[in-house]
Amino acid sequence: MNAFEALGLNTQLVQAITDLGFENPTPIQEKAIPVLLSGTTDFVGLAQTGTGKTAAFGFPLLQLIQVDQKHPQALIVCPTRELCLQITNDLESFKKHSKGIFTEAVYGGTSITMQIRNLKKGVQIVVATPGRLIDLIERKAIDLQKVKYVVLDEADEMLNMGFREDIDFVLKNTINRESTWLFSATMPPEVRAISKNYMDNPKEVTVGKKNTANVNIDHQFYVAAAHHRYETLKRLVDFNPGMYGIIFTRTKADAQEIAERLVKEGYDIEALHGDLTQQQRDKVMGRFRQKSIQLLIATDVAARGIDVEGVTHVINFELPDDIEVYTHRSGRTARAGKTGICISICHSRETFKIKQLERITNAQFHKLDIPTGKDVCRKQFFHFMDKLMQADTSHGDYETYMDDLQEKFAHVSKEEVLQRVAALEFDHFLKYYENAEDLNRNDLRDRRSMDNNRGGDQSGRPAYGNRADNGYTRLFINLGIKDGFYKASFLQFILDESNLKKEVLGKIDMRDMNSWVEIDKAEAGKMIKSMDGKSIITGQSG
Ligand code: AMP
Repeated sequence: MNAFEALGLNTQLVQAITDLGFENPTPIQEKAIPVLLSGTTDFVGLAQTGTGKTAAFGFPLLQLIQVDQKHPQALIVCPTRELCLQITNDLESFKKHSKGIFTEAVYGGTSITMQIRNLKKGVQIVVATPGRLIDLIERKAIDLQKVKYVVLDEADEMLNMGFREDIDFVLKNTINRESTWLFSATMPPEVRAISKNYMDNPKEVTVGKKNTANVNIDHQFYVAAAHHRYETLKRLVDFNPGMYGIIFTRTKADAQEIAERLVKEGYDIEALHGDLTQQQRDKVMGRFRQKSIQLLIATDVAARGIDVEGVTHVINFELPDDIEVYTHRSGRTARAGKTGICISICHSRETFKIKQLERITNAQFHKLDIPTGKDVCRKQFFHFMDKLMQADTSHGDYETYMDDLQEKFAHVSKEEVLQRVAALEFDHFLKYYENAEDLNRNDLRDRRSMDNNRGGDQSGRPAYGNRADNGYTRLFINLGIKDGFYKASFLQFILDESNLKKEVLGKIDMRDMNSWVEIDKAEAGKMIKSMDGKSIITGQSG
């Protein structure tokens, strides 16, 4: 039996799930679906976006709807227009094989008349933002008397946004509801109060830890002087060529200014802020969703409810003051089981905040060195070369030009061609980064930065690195898989270069751009000496 069928969902819904490619229920789905299908149990789900919560309430709702009755039976209230549209779209695909169920999204910033007209057609599920819903209730354009199920999605965000009275109003006006389902990423006292005041002995389910950041997120931070913040941002973007990211700023003015500067410098970025009309916002979001723009820069308010698949990086241009805000920001990446990176650029005086964040999110934060100009060029170079090698040549009629090409390049070596291609592609990077400043605040490096060091010390400072167990020390070598090594050939390379015996080496941990090698403490000095002149080793542990 299909895992979703086992939870009690009907054939049509299971068919839609199969079409969507969901193979197994997520934890919140597993716990929520059987309970919600009863239709009479109140429910509190502590789950962040990205956990599959929309499906967790969406499928049971669709199954509970009585198709022969054409009045609102379910009401989903959520904080933003974006989320409202997202939920409605999700419901559309969930009900693909279920006939006779109609949904309508009602939200502000757009014509109410059209929404009123659509509601009159006989809609059973209404997805609404609080403000517009109240407006519709006051105009008597929506009848809540027969609503049996009320879902409050992202309840904490709604309360943060000041919708408390609106939620009270809605709950007081749905007097015939049989159950209330509340979803929230966090459980502040205000949310607890709603469950206390309006729900009857709710079944409470938590997925992940309360207030915990998603485990698939790698939290990284870079310490930069305030006047280097912008340059650091640029470097991090350049250092991550495949980045598809959202940058958060505290103020609208920052978002606008940074976007303008980056656009001038040739970056693919647009800003999302409160001054945009709804139509402009939609356009920006549309372009970002289609990946026609690589980066979105936004304030927290403007980014509320954004749910975009495949975001690889979230960047905090500055750390938010509020820890809850950090969780919301970082939750824009690593959705649906994917991994993601949340980068924070912070000032040395703010590192205490990182400790607070670590404590509260229960996640480890990694301090990394800001890449040097050289690091950036290298990374871009290999990224380009990877793309070159992966280019699909199966569709073009390249054969036609082959003879001419052969002739043209008859006296040019492969090395020269590669160099020319690289020059063509990288000239601007090389020029820009040729004399790039080291943005790391060397004076402030602490033991911790060393333990998590990514790139090693580019300034030729004395060796440092990670502590290894059992009499070994770990050495950092700035060569990795992208340099054409694999473990065995790398081991051989080390032995050849250092004249050491294989027995003195421990684990080798190879990454794309660098590696860590365990070596008997007594022999470490010898290895450094034999290789240091070649500026290969940049770090050693104590
Ligand atoms: P949500 O938490 O509702 O924002 O869902 C996050 C993402 O997870 C959405 O893009 C869903 O399509 C996806 N999703 C939901 N349930 C599953 C599942 N059981 N298996 C795989 N992906 C899922």
